[in-house]
Amino acid sequence: MHRNVTTTVRVKLHSLTERKARLIEREYSAFQDAVHGDDETNLYSATKQQAGKVRSNKNPRKDTEQPVVLRNDCITIEHDEDTVLSSWWFKLPVYNPEIGRGDSIWVPVHVPDKDTHLLEDEYIRDSELVHQDGDWYVHLVCKRSVATADEYDDVLAVDMGAKWIAVSTFLSDRDTKFHGAEVRRIREHYKQLRKSIGKAKVRSGVQVIERLGDKESRTVEHELHRVANELVARARERNAVIVFGDMTGLRFDNDKGRYVNDKTHKMPYAKMANILTYKAHLDGRECIPVDEYDTSVTCWQCGSQNTNREVQGRVECDDCGLDDNADKNGASNIAQRAVGKDITSPLSTVGAVVTQPETQVRLKGANGEIEPANSPEDVGLTLSEGSPRLQSWE
Ligand SMILES: [Zn+2]
Repeated sequence: MHRNVTTTVRVKLHSLTERKARLIEREYSAFQDAVHGDDETNLYSATKQQAGKVRSNKNPRKDTEQPVVLRNDCITIEHDEDTVLSSWWFKLPVYNPEIGRGDSIWVPVHVPDKDTHLLEDEYIRDSELVHQDGDWYVHLVCKRSVATADEYDDVLAVDMGAKWIAVSTFLSDRDTKFHGAEVRRIREHYKQLRKSIGKAKVRSGVQVIERLGDKESRTVEHELHRVANELVARARERNAVIVFGDMTGLRFDNDKGRYVNDKTHKMPYAKMANILTYKAHLDGRECIPVDEYDTSVTCWQCGSQNTNREVQGRVECDDCGLDDNADKNGASNIAQRAVGKDITSPLSTVGAVVTQPETQVRLKGANGEIEPANSPEDVGLTLSEGSPRLQSWE
């Protein structure tokens, strides 16, 4: 199978001459005027079109700055080892008031070494000129196709939760790992800090909270990437396909009498799903969402929903006597759904095949009988469309 992977490469402009800096500042400022409604402003013509789109799609607030959208056919990045000043150069379209029309300037840029292989012209899409802390950056959007394997020897099921960022279980032997407890600690730590600052002095407290907010979100994001790397490496060890509990749907909570999305507000679920999918695809591995509905209240062993969670972190089955870690139980249900037991998204329908190795992957059925892991029936599957867009500097 082929998957599109989109990466944003952040290149920094450096060593700008006064003239080039002035032209960039002028273009940026004119773009701000254009997205906020000034039709008369002078911009590179393709960029002016983009400003119109930003204005009609986003209708940005007056007090916000918008990155300048650069159309992909107007930009080029080139490597030139022989130039002393910089080994990478970027062609940036600007309006040039000296000649009264659109022009292009070549500016020296710094490209992170790990990203240089992405900078082929055919990969580059519409990109953005960004102004941050007094420096200029271009966020180059690179989209390319990667091949993923069709056959796997095991399934690694990932349950993303509030307590742990992720719990992963292999289908074949239920070998389970808990990932990323750290974020929980970080969040609690900052929650305490916020409280104490809030009490002390409101005005300066707000500022400190804002800073903490930034720092916290960066730390959390870093932790999500670390966990995703851990999961992909774990899947690679056994040539496993990754499946994860999909909880994007709302469900009706009878106790509360309203629709809830219980886990998603406790952790950046969508972000984690995107990061994991992106990293899995880059590793040549499928990563497939499985409906998570009821997986936490279903007994993985017998399929009964006659379960209770009276003991913290445990699930007990009143039918078969199972007493298991609750997260491990949830992840096991996700793994089983992925291969066709209690199925909503069987892997077979997306062309992925879990091979039957010598030691065949087998599941215990509802009456204790043994069923083959790989059920062939096709009940249809909707894969989430589109590919995650990630920033490679994270
Ligand atoms: Zn049971």
